[in-house]
Amino acid sequence: MTTLTTEQAETATTTNATPTTDARTGSPRASVELRGHTIPTGLYLDGDWLPVESTFEVIDPATGGVIAEVADGTASDALAALAAADRAQDAWRHVAPRDRANLFHRAYAVLMSRADAIVETMTLESGKPLAEARGEFQLSTDFFLWYAEQVAHLHGTYAEGSRGGYRVVTTHQPVGPSLLITPWNFPLLMIARKAGAALGAGCTVVVKSAKETPLTCALFVEALHDAGFPPGVVNLVHTTRSADVSAAVMADARLRKVSFTGSTGVGSTLLKQAAPGIVNASMELGGDGPFVVLDDADVELAAQQAILCKFRNAGQACVAANRIIVHSAVAEEFTRRFVELTRELTVGDGFTAGVDVGPIISAKQRDGVAALVAALSEIDSELLTGGSPLGRDGYFFEPTVFKINDRDNEVCNQELFAPIATIYTVDSTTEAIRVANDTSYGLAAYVFTQDLSRAIAVSERLDSGMVGINRGIMADPAAAFGGVKSSGLGREGGHEAIYEFLEPKYLAITVDESKGLD
Ligand code: NAD
Repeated sequence: MTTLTTEQAETATTTNATPTTDARTGSPRASVELRGHTIPTGLYLDGDWLPVESTFEVIDPATGGVIAEVADGTASDALAALAAADRAQDAWRHVAPRDRANLFHRAYAVLMSRADAIVETMTLESGKPLAEARGEFQLSTDFFLWYAEQVAHLHGTYAEGSRGGYRVVTTHQPVGPSLLITPWNFPLLMIARKAGAALGAGCTVVVKSAKETPLTCALFVEALHDAGFPPGVVNLVHTTRSADVSAAVMADARLRKVSFTGSTGVGSTLLKQAAPGIVNASMELGGDGPFVVLDDADVELAAQQAILCKFRNAGQACVAANRIIVHSAVAEEFTRRFVELTRELTVGDGFTAGVDVGPIISAKQRDGVAALVAALSEIDSELLTGGSPLGRDGYFFEPTVFKINDRDNEVCNQELFAPIATIYTVDSTTEAIRVANDTSYGLAAYVFTQDLSRAIAVSERLDSGMVGINRGIMADPAAAFGGVKSSGLGREGGHEAIYEFLEPKYLAITVDESKGLD
């Protein structure tokens, strides 16, 4: 493993809350200048950036330094955002599909023209290496384009009543004003995927950004604003008081939908808050991804894909390989190669060329990773590489690999969300499936085998919403992304996602067949 020095000073020059003028409305607008890019720092309500009052700090995890101060929204700001979304709802749902699709295409063009600003801001506030940020940018804009194409292609059905006499016509209508809550680990993808589906369906939205990565969200919303999305259709609230802000919005009868990505605990709280008002809910929650390597797997391919699947985003991904489950026939060969590849990973500042693994998102999270390593060391296990934070500024941690000999421990039954790989050995395919399914989660799973029938047979028995067959990365706009069990409800992407924000409406139309004919 190589450790690079932080290339910090030139990255973050803050001229915080510098007022500039909004190109569309002409209003003054607070912003911050980072790496030559101007980023709005206020809340965005009803088509305007509000003046900044109280603020919170955004931290560069590669240095621990403050890079910006953004507006710290309150529950009453969020309710004002919901009121704006509610006012805009009726007009927005009646914008013709082609006009809505055209707006999406304009927003796509604006986003593409700002690729550098968005990619660099993502790396700055989330720590992910530039190459990963570029990949996320491409995937996010592809998602947006996918929805742009879907908007103009929503269809209903027409059928005869089962005993005749009337017709069954089914159409789809937007659910209504929606609250979109996003996490920090994929700062652009999460908002682009949710907002694309919601806006495409004709819903207006209040976006609640993650406090660690508000700037990427601000750039995304600014692009929609500049593309001409009407006032009130998109609203953005940053806050350090997520619980208060969400509780207030969730209790308001004008809210008709919540779409959340984040931890299972918070998802469960939101579902309870949704219950009294029967608020429609979609949940993309935590994962405990089993990465199964069978005895006939291409071991080199499996090891390389496991590296991607485990250490991308420093392990902070819901679909990361949380438990690597390897058949004993190939366990030694796989483990040797996986450890070798892990040691080759370069840890460092995301802006430095050649870096594979950036920092952990925060000091608190980095300390949590150290606590996990301590807990894993106490059970029957072997530390094969890594295990320590890097002694330098920022929140870096060595890519770490454990071989676990005894699975029957609390620490083996949780989402690691860290650059820690755990390898378990099994003696049969049946045991691999049993171990893979022995979790309350069910988001992504992976199977490596060179026999297609076997791959399908195993995939069908895995309790997960998605299965990667001989591949460790699988997000795609054309695919329905989501989980089962405590990993969530609903899907994002594919043909399904837009329907998460639509409700079928059935019209029963009496047809007197004796009329209308000569
Ligand atoms: P988190 O649940 O702590 O936070 C997610 C969002 O919820 C943030 O915006 C946060 O401010 C907000 N939040 C926190 N407490 C809240 C409350 N009481 N009420 C309302 N909102 C609240 O999760 P995180 O640490 O940001 O992200 C990591 C988790 O997200 C992991 O479990 C990961 O697996 C999951 N995740 C899932 C997916 C998926 O698609 N399934 C994608 C990315 C991340």
